[in-house]
Amino acid sequence: MIAKELQDEVYNCIKCGLCLMPCPVYKQLCYESAAPRGKVQLIKHILEGKLEPSANFNRILYTCLLCETCTVNCPSGLKVDRLLKAMRAEMVKKFKLPWQKRLLFSLLSGERLLPFFMQWGGSMGNLLMGLAPGGVKVGTIPFAKLPRLNKKPFREQVPEVVTVAAPKGRVLYFTGCATNYLYEDVGRSALAILKRLNIEVILPQGQMCCGLPIFLAGARESALGNIRKNLELFNREDVDAVLVDCATCGSALKNEYVHILEERGENADAAKALSKKVMDISQYLDKFDLKGMLKPLPGKATYHDPCHLARSQGIREEPRRLLQQIPGLEFVEMAGADVCCGGGGTFQVDHPEVSAGITGNKVRAIKDTGANLVASGCPGCRMQIQGNLGEEAAEVVHPVQLLARALK
Ligand code: SF4
Ligand code: SF4
Repeated sequence: MIAKELQDEVYNCIKCGLCLMPCPVYKQLCYESAAPRGKVQLIKHILEGKLEPSANFNRILYTCLLCETCTVNCPSGLKVDRLLKAMRAEMVKKFKLPWQKRLLFSLLSGERLLPFFMQWGGSMGNLLMGLAPGGVKVGTIPFAKLPRLNKKPFREQVPEVVTVAAPKGRVLYFTGCATNYLYEDVGRSALAILKRLNIEVILPQGQMCCGLPIFLAGARESALGNIRKNLELFNREDVDAVLVDCATCGSALKNEYVHILEERGENADAAKALSKKVMDISQYLDKFDLKGMLKPLPGKATYHDPCHLARSQGIREEPRRLLQQIPGLEFVEMAGADVCCGGGGTFQVDHPEVSAGITGNKVRAIKDTGANLVASGCPGCRMQIQGNLGEEAAEVVHPVQLLARALK
């Protein structure tokens, strides 16, 4: 059952339509049920018992990136994205998720299966991926442009506690699945910078997937184990901050754990305590004057705002300020930097045509800047943009990678 206060949200919609044009999905499809307003009205009719929740409604509900653009643009302050997420959790009870998603989510919610498969994938899986025929795509991304798995999970490459002499601070580092299994370059860069700043880093080995991909798909029950385990692990240590290098994981740890537990009527004190300590790594590094430890890095960089950083957490300026601290690196804004990249987790697989239209706009905006580097603090955006942009046009990286490259 959707929490009462979220159900009441539907009566705050004044049907003004101000959420239509900013919605990237509506801009592609141009029909009312693709728009936030249309979705809110359908949910209202279902909650009032005037409409049956049909398979067609279910399809409409998932034709959405959950980018939160509608929420920040609604003059009535409607929490559109939270309403849509809660409705998905209801619909999952009636219409099961496709088997591929159920399989993926059982991997992400298991403590042993995911490391086992990723270990295998790091050797055999990468080889098999290399054999895929050219032209085959996963959603909008050509197979050949998908990132390869780390040969060994990142957390197995580093000690659980990275000590420094006379530490000036102590942090926990939530690496998430992406850094652990795909983008070890981000983890290595983060550790190199923190070491130079004399910060002790703890990387709890038992950390699990943040659970956000699972509960955004509606399978909230399956993510509860991840939430509880991470709350226990990350509330335990006496640290200055819990650092996150992924916008999506950060949004889970900072906001969504609290929402989910509260909407279930459970005690959310532990989630609120964690929320206060969670910082995106760009937010944390922004506190330091890094200029003295950086050498010139020639190039031209632009920045793409991940939805889960800009809108979910309000972090926009910090990553830009970090890039602007790098000597020799020219920074240029792209048009529509905070417009969703079109990835949306599995959205780009479920709706490749819509996704391709949205990502196409992003790729054009990047090319118009003439930048050879695109920075973004979200592995999902990195994969989506790099996969569609092509490495020959520009390299997509996390901001900490550029900082690490510029370290003296
Ligand atoms: S902007 Fe808000 S109030 Fe206006 S139509 Fe959209 S959801 Fe309703
Ligand atoms: S979350 Fe994004 S894609 Fe979904 S309805 Fe709102 S603006 Fe559109």
